Amino acid sequence: MRKTRLIAALSLAAAAAVALTGCNSGTPGAETSVVAPDEETVWFTVADPKPEVADSPTVAAITERGTVKVGVKEDQPNLGYLDPTTGERSGFDVDIARWVAASLGYDEEDIEFTAIDSANREQSIINGDIDYYVGTYSITDKRKEQISFAGPYFVTGQGLLVAADSDITGKDDLTADTVVCSVTGSTSIERIKTETEAEPVELSKYSECVDQLKNGQVDAVTTDEAILIGYAAQDPDNLKVVGEPFSEERYGIGIKKDDTAFVEFVNTMLTDGGDIWTAIFEKNLGAAGVEGTQPEVDPVG
Ligand code: GLU
Repeated sequence: MRKTRLIAALSLAAAAAVALTGCNSGTPGAETSVVAPDEETVWFTVADPKPEVADSPTVAAITERGTVKVGVKEDQPNLGYLDPTTGERSGFDVDIARWVAASLGYDEEDIEFTAIDSANREQSIINGDIDYYVGTYSITDKRKEQISFAGPYFVTGQGLLVAADSDITGKDDLTADTVVCSVTGSTSIERIKTETEAEPVELSKYSECVDQLKNGQVDAVTTDEAILIGYAAQDPDNLKVVGEPFSEERYGIGIKKDDTAFVEFVNTMLTDGGDIWTAIFEKNLGAAGVEGTQPEVDPVG
């Protein structure tokens, strides 16, 4: 049964939809609601009618297909996670992806999620395997040569996850005799290779690095603090996040290069939906002890 406790964001979402489509039809009450996984709070509505996003090849493909193909992570608790028991997807990034789909007029059952590792993100977007990607994806100039980004929708920084009894307290302790695990194709592995003497170990997924840390095969796992805090919370007796963040990672939504109309659509959604952003953030990250405020989106171009 659909719950009805609406937050103020609902009217904002409706206003945003009207602003985006340029036409006002129906009342918010007539729209389909998206129910949060806790089945308590309705954060946003599925736009009805579906907005027209003129000149967007991505939205044209979605309209023709009738479904939305989204790339995500599924091994990063609080961000992009697939519960192996219940089959439920959860996390801040997954909810941002749902919000984009809802703004386009697509409900949960219209979304096809695909887990894509860090190393394969650009190529999946270029190939058109997915319509957009939401998964701890930092906006970088190098990536912008191949794809476009909406956002940023979150800012975090690179950190370190170590065993609870480790002597490592920060980046300066990553000397030549330390072994540090991160993921191929990430900004995290690049920074560890260029800015430290540590011996890098490169795997496909952060959860694989965490397994190696627990087995004592590596001395630290490095990536964004928002990701590491989720792993530490799963095993607080054995893992801890240490040191000050040593980079700025601005998360964007990966979109096919030069689909400016779709980038602008998502940016408007983010800018007009501050209350929705806060609700999604608090539920997934704020509750887990991650700090953050909504950043301003980048100008397009
Ligand atoms: N945010 C960093 C990146 O986009 C690290 C996390 C990840 O690999 O998803 O490379």
